[in-house]
Amino acid sequence: MRKLVQGIVDFRRKRRPDYAETFSRLALRQKPDALYISCSDSRVQANVFASTEPGDLFVVRNPGNLVSPAGPDGRSVADESEAAAIEFGLDVLEVRDIIVCGHSGCGVMAALEHGRENVRWPHLRSWMRHADAALERLRRGEGDQERLPQDRLSQLNVLLQLEHLRSYEPVKRRAPTLHAWWFEIGAAEVHAWDPGAGAFRAIDDDHAARILQRIAR
Ligand SMILES: [Zn+2]
Repeated sequence: MRKLVQGIVDFRRKRRPDYAETFSRLALRQKPDALYISCSDSRVQANVFASTEPGDLFVVRNPGNLVSPAGPDGRSVADESEAAAIEFGLDVLEVRDIIVCGHSGCGVMAALEHGRENVRWPHLRSWMRHADAALERLRRGEGDQERLPQDRLSQLNVLLQLEHLRSYEPVKRRAPTLHAWWFEIGAAEVHAWDPGAGAFRAIDDDHAARILQRIAR
């Protein structure tokens, strides 16, 4: 906490003047580019790896970057706050892209791989069930064989959560572009699912061009 509080003092003293115009504009309204759903993990920071600024992303974070699906009645089976963010992001902020971002070395994915029944915290154990289908796919041999099983599971999980997003009525109606991202912490590299290649690929210049082409509207 000491670092955090000192950070506020430093921001006030050194950086606030640089942000004065940005924040006075943002005080009137927000118009973010995307709804960004990522793991709560402290190392997964889009403001660093995607150079985002205040106002760029509408954010939901939770352990495991999970999206609990909507049930037959159209309501979230587990998390009203996330469902509310989907509604607000799509219908009020009118974002046209939703990103789900997982990462390497994810503690939730490691725990899932070792058996959800062994997790002793009841809420976490229950919450993780929204990734069960990804574990089944891992056990069927799906995923990038070059990766550690835990990281392969993490990538399969990101793709599963896109399927869960599609169960929501506003997602069906507004048909935003859904993006599966995966942050490799050790290499500080962002990968995205490349539908053409059927694999996660680093977002280098070429891949970035393909992504931009796909979202050109
Ligand atoms: Zn994580």
